[in-house]
Amino acid sequence: MPNSKSVRLLRRVALGSTVAVSFALAGFGAGTSAAATDVSAQGAPAGAPSASIAHSAATYGRTVALTFDDGPGPYTGQVLDLLAQYHAPATFCQIGNQAAANSALVKRILADGHRLCDHTVDHPQPMRTLPHATQVHEITAAKEMISKAGGPGTRIRWFRAPGGDFSPENRRIAVQDGLRPLGWTVDPRDWSRPGVASIVATVKRELRPGGVVLMHDGGGNRSQTVAALRELLPWLTRQGYRFSLPAS
Ligand SMILES: [Zn+2]
Repeated sequence: MPNSKSVRLLRRVALGSTVAVSFALAGFGAGTSAAATDVSAQGAPAGAPSASIAHSAATYGRTVALTFDDGPGPYTGQVLDLLAQYHAPATFCQIGNQAAANSALVKRILADGHRLCDHTVDHPQPMRTLPHATQVHEITAAKEMISKAGGPGTRIRWFRAPGGDFSPENRRIAVQDGLRPLGWTVDPRDWSRPGVASIVATVKRELRPGGVVLMHDGGGNRSQTVAALRELLPWLTRQGYRFSLPAS
């Protein structure tokens, strides 16, 4: 349909410009946010990202970084539709196996102007107790799987440990693969399906400017997440929040 094609193109342009601004400012802030005292970055290649866990949006001011974990899956399309409606770039922390099985969704995420994060091959928990070689595989193979699903030129900037189970070891592995550990500041526990009202209320109560919100587009029935997002996106917009990416 020619009409929907042109709408899609406009949407890409709109998101692209938002993202470009975010990255320009991200570069500005990167030097000051790097944790110089973080010993876990030792031995990382030159130009590697900080090994400190990112807990803020890339841009200063009244910004929010939305992140979606455990996909892509059956609910990712609905999340993408809503994000497009509000011109909201987001970051998707993907499971390698899921990305490989749903490459069309990975390509759409990128075409819509969003960013990708490595969430391991198959979401092992706890991650920190796994043998070193297994942790290396979980991070590096997932990055390759997501990159392959996204197609040529796909960039992955962050790593989020399953369940937030970061350790100096897995953070070091991630940094050596060019990935910054990515945390969050607001966890509405949407994965546990606490009810739409609970998800919405937690985000409204706990979000501060520059915050990172954790939600899930995969890993089970995410209809509550989608319904909550339908309320939160207009609320965030009314509150004057601008949608950003996480600090990288
Ligand atoms: Zn997860």
